[in-house]
Amino acid sequence: MTFTNHILSGSLLAKLLPLPIALPLAFASHFVLDALPHFGFKAGKITNLKLFYGVEALDFSIGAVIIGWLLNRHEYTWVISGLVAFSPDLVWFYRYIFKEKFGKLHIDYQAGWLTMIHKRVQRYERYWGLVIELVYGLLVFTLLR
Ligand SMILES: [Zn+2]
Repeated sequence: MTFTNHILSGSLLAKLLPLPIALPLAFASHFVLDALPHFGFKAGKITNLKLFYGVEALDFSIGAVIIGWLLNRHEYTWVISGLVAFSPDLVWFYRYIFKEKFGKLHIDYQAGWLTMIHKRVQRYERYWGLVIELVYGLLVFTLLR
């Protein structure tokens, strides 16, 4: 799922649940959401770099605006929970930047068990998953307001 939807989901969990309980559930929510059909490319192979970078730039811009909006409302625990919900994806940035050199190299590397689970649950990544992301994001945003 997108950065924005992970942030929204973790924030909603913090709105509904006390902080100590919300954080591990926010982390777990990442893998549940990644198991749903969502934006990406089949088998994780980026076939349209323009679309990928365009969606990523828009996604991180919207996510940053939402974080700013929550901070402005002093909902700090919601932001923390949202970032925890997003945190498993940090491993992809590390791999994409440092191992794959921005997509120039494709390396079938060994990964840890959590990363392997993370990779396996994302079997329904498709470019049309963007529609699902939009509907889901608007629904969660409405519940968060
Ligand atoms: Zn993920």
